[in-house]
Amino acid sequence: MMTSLEIMRTAYIGMGGNLASWAGAPEATLAAAALRLESLGRVPRRSSLYSTAPVGFAAQPRFVNAVVELETDLEPRALLEGLQSIELEFGRDRSAGIANGPRTLDLDLLLFGERKISEPGLNVPHPRLAERAFVLVPLNEIAAVVVVPGAAKTVGQLLTRLIEATKAVSGAVVRVRSEVWAGKAIASEAFKDGNEKIW
Ligand code: AMP
Repeated sequence: MMTSLEIMRTAYIGMGGNLASWAGAPEATLAAAALRLESLGRVPRRSSLYSTAPVGFAAQPRFVNAVVELETDLEPRALLEGLQSIELEFGRDRSAGIANGPRTLDLDLLLFGERKISEPGLNVPHPRLAERAFVLVPLNEIAAVVVVPGAAKTVGQLLTRLIEATKAVSGAVVRVRSEVWAGKAIASEAFKDGNEKIW
């Protein structure tokens, strides 16, 4: 009998939301969505959960963000379609039309192995990855030494550069203790004294 060799690649998925879904508050939505991601591959690691200040459109609730690692045999386009169908499952409605506006769940394909993809509707690494502390801080927690294709820098180096280039805004990225998220093992140490301001 022939056996097929599946090629597994490591992708990193950015997760965010600031409106309640049927699953509950944003942190419950992210926890439920992280479990749903297991339908697209294996999720060996996830960052902590972060409370972050909205970027771009300020008059909306703070976001909850996290990044998970996904080992998958899907091609990038199929993976993106899988992410979009999970967004829809959690009530993502693109019709409101405010760029960077409120949403129940946003899933971004941040990195896909060493691949660099520039196609209509699919850009990897995610084009705004290096400018966004709410992405780089959680990504750095689980992938600090991963090299970002096209940038010739690691995630950790991109984060250092962003911190140096940006005026710190107090409370922009705060790591939060979350029972619902930490139900599964998280990469970081358990919290000892509650929330932790990163930025
Ligand atoms: P948004 O509404 O901000 O979630 O943006 C989603 C749109 O960005 C979709 O139309 C995708 O086709 C497109 N897109 C391009 N590259 C990516 C990526 N790496 N991850 C997620 N969406 C992407």
